[in-house]
Amino acid sequence: MIPGFVYQGTPSRVVFGTGTLARLPEEVDRLGLRRVLVLSTAQQEREARDLAARLGNRAAGVCAGAVMHTPVEVTARAVEHATGLGADGLVSLGGGSSIGLGKAIVLRTGLPHIAVPTTYAGSEMTPILGQTRDGIKTTQREPGLLPGTVLYDVDLTLSLPVPMSVTSGMNAIAHAVEALYARDGNPIVTMMAEEGIAALLRALPAIVGNPTDAAARSDALYGAWLCGICLGSAGMALHHKLCHVLGGTFDLPHAETHTVVLPHVVAYNARAAASAIGRVGALMGTADAGTAMQALARRLGAPTALRDLGMPEAGIERAAELAVRSPYWNPRAVDRDSLHALLARAWAGAPPMID
Ligand code: NAD
Repeated sequence: MIPGFVYQGTPSRVVFGTGTLARLPEEVDRLGLRRVLVLSTAQQEREARDLAARLGNRAAGVCAGAVMHTPVEVTARAVEHATGLGADGLVSLGGGSSIGLGKAIVLRTGLPHIAVPTTYAGSEMTPILGQTRDGIKTTQREPGLLPGTVLYDVDLTLSLPVPMSVTSGMNAIAHAVEALYARDGNPIVTMMAEEGIAALLRALPAIVGNPTDAAARSDALYGAWLCGICLGSAGMALHHKLCHVLGGTFDLPHAETHTVVLPHVVAYNARAAASAIGRVGALMGTADAGTAMQALARRLGAPTALRDLGMPEAGIERAAELAVRSPYWNPRAVDRDSLHALLARAWAGAPPMID
């Protein structure tokens, strides 16, 4: 029997395929925009300028100031930039950092936002914005933050370096895993989570073998899209809480942090969310999904220890404290001592432990 549920759809327009960037001008026209500001990180400024050139006089300019964790001072400068140019819309090109900057500007200006994702982070499919102020990252969820149009072009992901492809893909898997045991989960989200995880499990080893394998890249982007919907549709739990704390407090790289932490949270929740974690295990062909997840990361060359990401050992105590101070709902209760133990294992790269 299917238990009763509420399903909240993500009302955005998605254009998916290969070579779809050619369709960006018509998507801009469709929204009636005449002066969009193109957003990117400094690393993708060249691509952002190419994209602006493609838009011709529909582009008002480029702001290549996006950085990870969306610091509020960066947003303030970008809002000034957008206002100064009289921009009437935003096109964010890149991963969660560029798209996050887009959302932060939307929050302050209400401008229409087209996202063109180039990683597997999934931010483009969520109405969630995480912002960092004075070293504390806080997240908010508001329907207006969901980009109205998302244009996925597989070609744009071919340049995503292999290490980033792997960790970004694991970041996407983490969204789906937490949606499987979310308090507000439902059969539709479960279906998307399983399909998304399966696509990424198929794609990531193939991308490591050949980063320009178009079929694998397409699978990964499709999986990332589904996992992004999961994140946007269902609540986050302990895994995302820990990653937000670690990212905001120690400025750790986002996708790598997700990759290291996920196996430990999967093990932590294994008994309390046996059915959900069982589904992940079934997709991985094992009864111990946490251990398999860490083994997969290691096999694909991804990091498995927070200390290798630059987290100080002394930070374990503070992270555990911050995570219990304002916890997200989780299938298993959290307390400072268990989180301290979990984080100590993640810091050292020890095997995940089901207790
Ligand atoms: P990112 O956007 O910071 O990108 C990492 C680096 O890779 C950047 O230098 C970027 O320019 C570069 N890059 C991206 N795509 C590339 C490509 N195809 N080729 C070459 N280089 C490329 O990393 P991310 O993991 O996508 O995003 C992390 C940020 O997104 C964090 O701040 C995180 O909190 C946020 N996020 C938010 C949500 C949400 O729903 N709000 C979801 C996921 C992530």
